[in-house]
Amino acid sequence: MFIPTRAAGLEALHDFVPRAGADYRRDRNHDLGPSRSNVSGLSPCVRHRLVTEEEVVDAVLERHSLHAAEKFVQEVFWRTYWKGWLEQRPEVWRRYRDGVRELFAGDLPDGYEDAVAGRTGIDAMDAWARELVDTGYLHNHVRMWFASIWVFTLGLPWQLGADFFLRHLLDGDAASNTLSWRWVAGLQTRGKTYLATTENIARYTEGRFAPRGLATTARPLDEEPFPPATPIAPEDVVGEIGSRVGLLLHEEDLEPASLLTALGPAAPTLRSAAVFADAGARSPAPVSPLVEAFTTGAVADAAARTADAAGLPAVTLGAADASTVVDWARSAALDTVLVPYAPVGPVQERLDVLRPALAAEGVGLVTVRRPWDSRAWPFASRGFFPFKERIPRLVRAR
Ligand SMILES: Cc1cc2nc3c(=O)[nH]c(=O)nc-3n(C[C@H](O)[C@H](O)[C@H](O)COP(=O)(O)OP(=O)(O)OC[C@H]3O[C@@H](n4cnc5c(N)ncnc54)[C@H](O)[C@@H]3O)c2cc1C
Repeated sequence: MFIPTRAAGLEALHDFVPRAGADYRRDRNHDLGPSRSNVSGLSPCVRHRLVTEEEVVDAVLERHSLHAAEKFVQEVFWRTYWKGWLEQRPEVWRRYRDGVRELFAGDLPDGYEDAVAGRTGIDAMDAWARELVDTGYLHNHVRMWFASIWVFTLGLPWQLGADFFLRHLLDGDAASNTLSWRWVAGLQTRGKTYLATTENIARYTEGRFAPRGLATTARPLDEEPFPPATPIAPEDVVGEIGSRVGLLLHEEDLEPASLLTALGPAAPTLRSAAVFADAGARSPAPVSPLVEAFTTGAVADAAARTADAAGLPAVTLGAADASTVVDWARSAALDTVLVPYAPVGPVQERLDVLRPALAAEGVGLVTVRRPWDSRAWPFASRGFFPFKERIPRLVRAR
C-alpha cells in the first residue's frame, strides 16, 4: 500500500490533488477502513521528505485556491508546527525518551501486552491495534480515539502508547507523535483532554464500530513544569563549508535536489555522498518489520537519486554508528560533511554524537535547514491557533 519511493509519493500526490479541496474538508474525519480515499495517505513519504511539505502545498495550490484547500493546507502545517514547537522544547522529547526507557526497564503495566496484541476485548481497539501492526498506518481520527481509550479507559501510560505508535507507524515522527499523544492526555494544551465517545466513533466509522464501556471522563494528566522555551536559531546553515565536501542524507530528509538548490550559490561541488538510517533508534523495543522495510527502501531510493541531484550516487551506510561515518569521511578525504538539519528526535541525537567524532578528525559537520522550516518554526512558540493565522503569509513567502 505504501511504496517508499519519491516517484510513488509524487504519483500519490498527483492522484490526491483533485480531492484536496471541498471533498477533503467534508470527508476527512471519516474512517471507512483501509481502502480510504478521503485522506491523502501521504504521511509516510512526507515524514521522510521523499516529497516535501512545500511540494505538497505547491501541487494543491496549483489546482485549488488557498480558501478552497484551507483545511488540507492547515493539516500539512500541523506537521511543521509540531516540529517547530518541539524544536523549542527539546526537554519534552528527552523526558519522553527517559520515560519510555524506564517503563521498559521495569515490569510492564497490566493490560499493556493485551493492548498491543489486540486483546483488550474492546472490538474497535483490537481492530485498530491489528491494523496498525499489519499496515503501518492509522487514520488521524482513529489515532485520537486509540490514544484516548489507551489513556483514559485502559489507564495505561501515554508514553507506552506513543512508543507503540512510533514503532509501527511508517510515518512515525518524534514531534507529531509525542505531541499528539500529549495533547490527547491533557499535557500539551494544559488541562484540555480529548475524550473518545461511542457516539463519535460510531458516527465517523459509519457504524463499523460502537465500542461500549469507554471512560466517560478524562482527567488531564499532570507533570513537572519544563524549562522555558529556547528560540529557534536564526541561521539556516550552521558551520563552515570547506572545499572537500560530502553530503550525508538521513531518514528525516531524503530529497537532495531541493536541499542543494536551497543553498543557492553556496552549494558546493560534492566529492562523495552517503545515506544512513536507523529506524531501530525510535525505541528501546523492536521496531516493526514494516517500518524497517519502508525506511530502508526510502534510503535506497534517495541514494539512487543523489546521482541526478549531485552528480554522484550515494553509498548506503545502513544504521551507521559514528565510526562508520568517520571511516567514510576519511576514505573520501572530506573536510566537511553536509547534512540536512535533523529536528529534535533520534536522528538529531545521532548527529550530536557524530559531530565531535568528526571534529576529532578535522571534519566539520554542517547542517542545512530548509527555508520552509526556517520561516515557520519561529511562529510555533505558542498554540496552533496563532500559528494558523500565519499560514497565508507563510504560503505566500514560499
Ligand atoms: C495520537 C496521534 C499520533 C500521531 N502520530 C503521528 C506520527 O507519528 N507521524 C505523523 O506524521 N503524524 C502523526 N499523527 C498526525 C496524523 O494522524 C497523521 O499525520 C495523518 O493521519 C497522516 O495521514 P494522511 O497522510 O492520510 O493525512 P492527510 O489527512 O491526508 O493530511 C495531509 C498531510 O498533513 C499532515 N498532517 C495531517 N494531520 C496531521 C496532524 N494531526 N499532525 C501532523 N501532521 C498532520 C501529514 O503530513 C499528512 O500527510 C498523529 C496523530 C495523533 C492523534
